[in-house]
Amino acid sequence: MARKENKLLRATRAYIERGIAVTPASPMVPDPAGTSWRTTWMCSCGDRYCATPGAHPLATEPLTHVTQASTLYDVPTPPNLLIASGPEVAIWRVPLAPGSYAMRRLEQQRLTIWPPVMRLPDHGWIFCTAPTKQRVGLADVELVSDDAPVLAPPSRGPNGRRLRWLWSPRFPAVPLPEAEQVLAALAIGSMDELRVAGAADEHPDVASGPTEPARTRR
Ligand SMILES: [Zn+2]
Repeated sequence: MARKENKLLRATRAYIERGIAVTPASPMVPDPAGTSWRTTWMCSCGDRYCATPGAHPLATEPLTHVTQASTLYDVPTPPNLLIASGPEVAIWRVPLAPGSYAMRRLEQQRLTIWPPVMRLPDHGWIFCTAPTKQRVGLADVELVSDDAPVLAPPSRGPNGRRLRWLWSPRFPAVPLPEAEQVLAALAIGSMDELRVAGAADEHPDVASGPTEPARTRR
């Protein structure tokens, strides 16, 4: 029988080969108390009230060598994976509304290189760009750092579904856009949000929130 593809092993190797360190995290596992017709998922720590399901770091140091990844991930239940900004990538965490408006703006710009974008289980967004030395003065936009790395595809989120990159789904095997271009769109996205929120206060029936941006790019 063909062995099921180990997506997490393949992705972990690809991130590390791209120079992006990976912190292994607690996997989501089928809940033994679940029903036979529908799998429910729980954090492998065994706590049904776990505060960060599928996202506890399992190591203090991120993995930077492919051989380490092979040892840890070539198992029947491989760990989830966490990534953070580093020398090869800047990872930005953005709340739902400004992120959605920024995606609209980026769609209008006919980009040649799309930023990998992912919806977080808590409904925020993750945008990836090339690293930058620019200081970011946007209240809503946070650079994901080593001390709080973020769950990345193809990890299983708290509901058991695999996370995926909505734009640039082949990341990390794709080039990254300049940070300045994406940050500019995020700045405009934050203003769009304020403008729409203001309009909604004055004319509750005309203003509408952001619609879901287009599904997949590249
Ligand atoms: Zn847990």
